[in-house]
Amino acid sequence: MILKKNKVKKFFLIIFIFFVTNSAFALQLNGRFYQGNLIIGKTEPKSKVFIDKKEIQVSKKGFFAFGLNKDRKNDILIEVIFNGKKQELTKKILKKKYKIQKINGLPKKQVTPPKEVYQRIKDDNKLIVKARSINSNLEFFSNKFNVPLENSIITGVYGSQRILNGIPKSPHYGLDFAANEGTNILAMLDGVVTLSEKDLYYTGGTVIFDHGHGISTLYMHMKDIHVKKGQNIKQGDVIGTVGKTGRSTGPHLDIRLNWLDVKLDPASVLNIK
Ligand SMILES: [Zn+2]
Repeated sequence: MILKKNKVKKFFLIIFIFFVTNSAFALQLNGRFYQGNLIIGKTEPKSKVFIDKKEIQVSKKGFFAFGLNKDRKNDILIEVIFNGKKQELTKKILKKKYKIQKINGLPKKQVTPPKEVYQRIKDDNKLIVKARSINSNLEFFSNKFNVPLENSIITGVYGSQRILNGIPKSPHYGLDFAANEGTNILAMLDGVVTLSEKDLYYTGGTVIFDHGHGISTLYMHMKDIHVKKGQNIKQGDVIGTVGKTGRSTGPHLDIRLNWLDVKLDPASVLNIK
């Protein structure tokens, strides 16, 4: 009976500490809360972090990452628990204006794929989805990204809606750079290759890197690919060259940034406007 009472007391004491002792511990959020942006957080190692009530990984050094959906409108809830203390933040999401891009006079094959390639597209997509779903404990994502080309001229942005020959297509989730065929492509960040494919239907020569905690980058339409699945790559390494493989209107580099299945704006991690 006495033992039971003590247990009850202890239980209330824990609850009490949890809710009342709200003295701050280190918590930093880097990134602007715009639609499509990647946010990198830093807190005490061994904290627990929840985004919209879902727990996410915290690295040994206390880093964590999450992304904001392209069309997200509702506030985001960030909860961090450390040593029985809790910090709770609600952030408003800032809206981005997306462009509408009309391209006419494209060959019909490029706008609507022929039936005989449907299965191929499905299979390609499976490979990409699988690579993007990797949620490793690598910590590269917390470092600064670099642009993938020495001269970067941006010709296409994230979120733009493409209307091809009058048919509205799914939004463009990439960042396009104009470059000559054969131009070296540099790794934007340290990472591990999780996909290296020479000939996917839409994206042609395609490479995906895992940077940890569900953060991945993808490079497409490549001419040559110098990296293999499983390889460790350093930032600035030449991973291949610019091409026009897959469904591409001409040589250019299209890059993608993902937080698991959430497609993010690559410009949010590169110092470009
Ligand atoms: Zn593109």
